[in-house]
Amino acid sequence: RLELNNVSIAFDSTAVVRQVSLQLPEGDIGSLLGPSGCGKTTLLRAIAGFEQLQQGSIALHGKCVSSEQLMIAPEKRRVGMVFQDFALFPHLSVADNIAFGLNGQSSQQKRARIAELLKLVGLSELSNQHPHQLSGGQQQRVALARAMAPRPEILLLDEPFSALDPELRGQLATEVRLLLKQDGITAILVTHDQTEAFAMADQIGVMHQGALHQWDNSYNLYHHPATTFVADFIGRGT
Ligand code: ATP
Repeated sequence: RLELNNVSIAFDSTAVVRQVSLQLPEGDIGSLLGPSGCGKTTLLRAIAGFEQLQQGSIALHGKCVSSEQLMIAPEKRRVGMVFQDFALFPHLSVADNIAFGLNGQSSQQKRARIAELLKLVGLSELSNQHPHQLSGGQQQRVALARAMAPRPEILLLDEPFSALDPELRGQLATEVRLLLKQDGITAILVTHDQTEAFAMADQIGVMHQGALHQWDNSYNLYHHPATTFVADFIGRGT
C-alpha cells in the first residue's frame, strides 16, 4: 500500500510537484499520466527515495518513508524499479541477471524463485542465454523479473516500454499487468501513453505542471473529469 500526503518537491525554489495526495491499495496498479515535464518522474523518484520532499509525506505499508524531516534510504524501502534503459548485465546469463537482486538467500531459495519468475515471464527456455541474444521485448521481461525477484513492496516502472515498437508495447502492457496481478505486486507506471496506462492500471493520475488533477479509475476519468485539463487531455486520447 502506498500513500502520498500533500507531497511537494522543489528544485532551486521552483516547485515541480505541488501538493500531491494519493492512495494506492495493496496489489493495485497505478499510473501517472501527463505531458512532458509535468513532474511524473520526479514523483516516482521521490517514492523510490531519491528526492527530498519540501512538504508532505510518503508512506509504504503504513510506515512513513519520506517527509520534510525524514528520508529513508532507497535500499531500505523495498522498492523495485524498471526504467526505459533497463541495463541488464551483459556478461551475466538471464538467470544470473534475475539472481542479482536475491542476495542473502540460500542457493536453493534463489533457484526456486528464479524458476518461478522465468516461468511467469515465459522465458524458462532462455535462462542460460545472455542479454544480447534476446529481443528487446524479451530483455524487458528479464528486467521486470529482476525487479520483481526480491518481492518489492512496490514496483516503480518509468516508461518501461518506450524503447519498443508500438505493437510490442501494447502487447507487453497487457501481459505485464497479468504478471503483476499473478504475483500480487503493487506497482506504479509512469507513461505519456494513455493506451498503455488504460491497459495496465487500476487507478490513473493525470498531472499538469506538478499538480495531480485527478486520481481515479479510467471510467471516471472519461465520464467525470475533475478539471477541463483532464477532459482535454483524456479526450485527445494520445
Ligand atoms: P517526461 O515525460 O518528459 O519524462 P516528467 O513529467 O517525468 O517528464 P520530470 O522529469 O519529473 O517530468 O520533470 C519535471 C520538471 O522538473 C521539469 O521541468 C524538469 O526540467 C525539472 N527537473 C527534473 N529534475 C530536475 C533536477 N534534478 N534539477 C532541476 N530541475 C529538474
